[in-house]
Formats: sequence, structure tokens, C-alpha cells
Amino acid sequence: MEEHGYKAAHAPRVLRQCYEVEGERARSSVRMPAGLNELLASTFSKQAASLARRQVAADGTRKLLLRLADGRTVESVLMPDYHPARAAGCISSQVGCAMGCDFCATTQTGFERNLTAGEIVEQFIQLRREARSAGRILRTIVFMGMGEPMLNLRNVLAAVKRIAEPTLGALGWRQITLSTVGIVPGIEELTEADLGVHLALSLHAPDDATRADLLPIGQRFEVREVLAAADRYQARSGRITTIQYCLLEGVNDALAQARDLSRLLAGRPMRVNLLRYNPTGLSLRGRSYAPSSTEKTDAFLAELRTHGTVAHLRRARGADIDAACGQLRRRAAGYAPGER
Ligand code: SF4
Repeated sequence: MEEHGYKAAHAPRVLRQCYEVEGERARSSVRMPAGLNELLASTFSKQAASLARRQVAADGTRKLLLRLADGRTVESVLMPDYHPARAAGCISSQVGCAMGCDFCATTQTGFERNLTAGEIVEQFIQLRREARSAGRILRTIVFMGMGEPMLNLRNVLAAVKRIAEPTLGALGWRQITLSTVGIVPGIEELTEADLGVHLALSLHAPDDATRADLLPIGQRFEVREVLAAADRYQARSGRITTIQYCLLEGVNDALAQARDLSRLLAGRPMRVNLLRYNPTGLSLRGRSYAPSSTEKTDAFLAELRTHGTVAHLRRARGADIDAACGQLRRRAAGYAPGER
């Protein structure tokens, strides 16, 4: 501001203007100093990414491929809520991912770079616009897109603050969920940040051997360490941790594994979200995973509940588009499904 002859105190107004929702009365409704709007329009771009591709599924799920200033792309997804006026957004924290989870499409093209806080916020703004065009209001955001949020925590937290902040994104802390594959130091740092967001932990197996076979991070942090870190986050934040568990045929869907999971969670006020696997072709290690059958899924869910675990089956979204994270980006980059 000062370089351009304005007061530094004008900066918050400029920032607020970037978050205003088109078509609504300007929230800031603060008059800008003469010439500042013109200067901004001619000198800066408000957009950190442009829409490169959009897929709309029959169930209303919209998947956006956003092109960043350096030509790289990331995915963001808008999911209609049960409530007809609401929607949830899923955003990415990194371009690609280094975690190497065997069944994930994102990691197949490797890790490229962390997203900046601005690029993360941009996804929120684009999804909010997308929701409005679908006649809905964006009510919640989950960091479950491309990347591991805990490995880009500084930028993720900076973005979360802007998205939640009442004068900027105004979404609220409780409407935001950070997901992790189990980076214990990241969970500890999030605990210290004391922001009151929700935590989702991708466990995918109750025992270390199966988990480490699916998720390389399982070789570094044991299940008990990861759950202990989540316990501490839960105690500090007062937010119930969600355990994410993607059911894979013959890998982690046995009833004995459901009982082991219930045993692990006994006495922990956590809930389990069972996820249906979206096949992405051959895995990183050349395996072919399949989603568990409806019968096995129902039996697994029932077994968890019988043993006192609060569990739900998450609805599959956008089955007729490239629904799994990383798929649309790979296709846009010219990879055939299953090709590496
Ligand atoms: S599942 Fe998440 S953490 Fe694992 S490789 Fe994919 S994007 Fe990364």
C-alpha cells in the first residue's frame, strides 16, 4: 500500500474485498480511497488459479480442475449436502503427494509442490462461487483433496484462518476438517495451534502390518501412536475425531478387523466413517484393489455397531465422473485410467 502511495491501514479493506461474495451486498461496504480499485485492477490479479476443467456428476457433485499461475493443476470438489440449500467442499493442500498410499491416484504422479495459502483460499472462493451457481451455500470444507495437509501445515493454517475468519471467508472454525494419514508431529502442531477445527484420521486398518502395507507412513508411526496424538487433539479441542476407513475387498474388510477396530476405539469418543473405494486402475505397486461388496460393507458396519462403535457409511459421490482424488488431474495430463 505504501509503495503505491496508500496507507498500510487500507490493506485489510483490500483483503476483505477479495472475499466478498458476488451478488451480495459488499460485506466490507468500506469506501476505498480514490484510485485504489483502478490500481488494483490494473496491477494485480485477484485470482490465484483459473478454472481449467469442470465435471458435473449425475448426483450434483462438481469436480473442478484449477490451473495455478505456474501451469500446475489441482482438484477441488463440491458435494451437495442432504440439505437442499447446502454444499460441502473438498480442497487440496499440495500439488501431488509424497505419501505413497498404495490405493491413491494422487500419489501416482508424485509430489510437485506445496500450495500457498492464497492458492488454498482460492479453492474455497471458487467452490463458494460454484455452490451459488448450483443454488446452494457452501457450509463446510474438508481438506481431503490432493496432498497431506500436515506436511504443508503452515500454509494450511494460514488459509484456514482466512477461510474461517468472520470478516474474510466467514465459514467458522467448526465447519472445517483437516484430514491426515497419521503424521504425528503435524497432529501435535495442530493441537498447539488451538484453532478448534475438526480432525479426520485416515486409519484404513486396525493393525500395523496391514496399515503399513497400504500406507507407507504406517512404517514410521504405529497405530497406537497416531491414536494417542488424536486423543490429545480431541482432549484439547473438544472436537470428536473421525476415523476414516476405506473398505478394500479382501484387504481390510474382515469381521475380525471390524472387531479389532472396535477394540482400539473402545473408550475413545471417536466415530468411524466407512468409505467406498473408487477404483483407479493399478495401484502404485501394481495391485488391483476392489471396493468391498455391499454385503461385506453392511456386515462390517453392523459388526462395528454391535461392538459399541459409532460408525456410518459415507455416501459414494460422483460415481460417473473421475471421483477419486487425483483422477481428473491425471486424465487432464493425458494418462489413461490405470496407466502410470
Ligand atoms: S491418500 Fe492422501 S495422503 Fe495418501 S497419497 Fe493420497 S493424497 Fe496423499
